[in-house]
Amino acid sequence: MKTKETGSDPKFATKTTSGESPALTALFKDAIADLYWAENHLVKALPKMISAATAPELKSAIESHLEETKGHVSRLEQVFELLGEKPIAKKCDAMEGLTKEAEGIVEGTEPGTATRDVGIILASQKVEHYEIASYGGLHQLATTLSFTDVAGILAQTLAEEKQADNKLTDIAENEINYNAASEA
Ligand code: FE
Ligand code: FE
Ligand code: ZN
Repeated sequence: MKTKETGSDPKFATKTTSGESPALTALFKDAIADLYWAENHLVKALPKMISAATAPELKSAIESHLEETKGHVSRLEQVFELLGEKPIAKKCDAMEGLTKEAEGIVEGTEPGTATRDVGIILASQKVEHYEIASYGGLHQLATTLSFTDVAGILAQTLAEEKQADNKLTDIAENEINYNAASEA
């Protein structure tokens, strides 16, 4: 069987430096600007989810992720600096949609119910998965473009997004889904 080993072929290896792919670098920077908008938007949207949530463990999980999210904004500012760019936010239609969906779930459920909490968890995990996909892909792309320091910063946030997602899964599985199932 023949295996392709383009990655270790020196003929291809020279193509991994950023200077040689301005279009890819531009795409990368655009995606960072999209994430910067998304994280800033979450800083404004998460407080609404905290007030709508009932279970103390859910409230505190979102509260601590709000603090982390402020750190994600600062990390992206570091990324812009490393790239020699001013921080630019480019509207992320996906995050706008995901937070609208979350607000719709809150409006469609009764205050103080475990059912509303389940809805908040569902919506929040969609947000986390969008972020995980974004940071995961951009971490890989930063590595390809030899933006080593940037890749390291993106990896830190990626780890926190995964942790936040796992925490939400735990909360849902350990209590809230069960409580909601016995609700009227
Ligand atoms: Fe984040
Ligand atoms: Fe986006
Ligand atoms: Zn997040």
